Amino acid sequence: MKDWDTIAAISTPMGEGAIAIVRLSGEEALSIIDRIFITPSKKKMSEVPSHTIHYGNIVDPKVNEVIEEVMVSIMRGPKTFTREDVVEINCHGGIVSVNKVLQLVLSQGARLAEPGEFTKRAFLNGRIDLSQAEAVMDLIRAKTDRAMNLALGQMEGRLSKLVQGLRQHILEILAHVEVNIDYPEYDDVEEMTHHLLLEKATYVKNELEKLLRTSQQGKILREGLSTVIVGRPNVGKSSLLNSLVQENKAIVTDIPGTTRDVIEEYVNVRGVPLKLVDTAGIRETEDIVERIGVERSREFLNKADLVLLVLNNNEPLSKEDEQLLEVTEGMDVIIIVNKTDLPTNLSIEKVKQLAKDRAIITTSLLEEKGIDELEDAIASVFFDEGIEIGDTTFVSNSRHIGLISQAQTALEEAIDGLNSGVPIDIVQIDLTRTWEILGEIIGDTVHESLIDQLFSQFCLGK
Ligand code: GDP
Ligand code: ZN
Repeated sequence: MKDWDTIAAISTPMGEGAIAIVRLSGEEALSIIDRIFITPSKKKMSEVPSHTIHYGNIVDPKVNEVIEEVMVSIMRGPKTFTREDVVEINCHGGIVSVNKVLQLVLSQGARLAEPGEFTKRAFLNGRIDLSQAEAVMDLIRAKTDRAMNLALGQMEGRLSKLVQGLRQHILEILAHVEVNIDYPEYDDVEEMTHHLLLEKATYVKNELEKLLRTSQQGKILREGLSTVIVGRPNVGKSSLLNSLVQENKAIVTDIPGTTRDVIEEYVNVRGVPLKLVDTAGIRETEDIVERIGVERSREFLNKADLVLLVLNNNEPLSKEDEQLLEVTEGMDVIIIVNKTDLPTNLSIEKVKQLAKDRAIITTSLLEEKGIDELEDAIASVFFDEGIEIGDTTFVSNSRHIGLISQAQTALEEAIDGLNSGVPIDIVQIDLTRTWEILGEIIGDTVHESLIDQLFSQFCLGK
């Protein structure tokens, strides 16, 4: 374990009445707390057992003034998150008093932690690897239960173990290659090596493929099924968003084309994480402000995993409706015929014809009808794609996905080389590269600048 200065930060989101924690980590954490914390029995925190909690007052030693009544947790390294001595001061909250405690801690020699610095220390001290550190970040940002479970699995080291196992296989292959290079005169060694190499390399390649196949689902679990609501102005897009979100974040109005900004909401529909995007509709228009919305709609449409296409039962199918049905062909689309409480002027036959095999749901968002059926349809889009959490290790982070496909390419080159009789030391280069690329996932072979960049994305106090 390396010695660094002692860092401190407020490590809980602040709010009126909530508990806030000032966390310290480092060599001086215990001596700092001893200077500013007084328990009724005058216990020394540097002498109490590890992993214990103590009641007392935070006192400014300069003026002998009580700042805050607190509970203090003492956790000695290496059995802590950072592997250093960690002290947590639990304050009753109130932004002012928590900040006062933090200021006092800083005046006693601690340094304000940079964003992610606690997690970075955990990584640098070998407590967690890089993919686990990234999971901490995912956990903070998780918008849905599933995303959280995914992050937890990764934090526990599921992906790390898998990647480490594969790297071990590659090392074994490399060892065989060494034997071959060292004893080229033995024919049987070469033959055996060749056979073994292919077998092992193919095994690793298949494992990498399996992992990559989870990436689409993994990304959805982590980021939500990117869902775009499209339709002409006034068909009920915002109403749909609202009824799914069940709170009124998007503005619902009677004026066509008033939802001009793209609004994002996260919702859980039957356990399916949706990232909902409401757009201003894909209508050609002379109105500049609305055109920005239209262009962005197209952009979002291209990136969508699921499209909710809203039509108006009360109006005949328009050219724009037809265009939307056309543009979204081949995508996962649910067609929603809304306003069924109003007289029917829409030819459902024509919609069916244009819909081809896409699902059609009828709703009256005004009367809250058809929403259950819609949610069923959304869930079936998701589950039909075979999402099952079970024991599967998902890869969900773009950085990891990129590295795994790079590793796969390098390995394919090695296998091709083996099959076409390329000199073994060239194959060795591809294999070594595969090993190194996989190492970047867990942080074994990664550059310092990348580490700094990754950790700087963290929230303060983590
Ligand atoms: P958007 O422009 O597509 O986002 O449409 P809005 O959600 O803003 O809805 C436009 C208008 O249609 C509002 O006055 C809504 O109250 C109304 N509306 C939405 N759904 C229904 C429905 O099912 N029936 C009726 N009668 N009106 C609806
Ligand atoms: Zn709207």
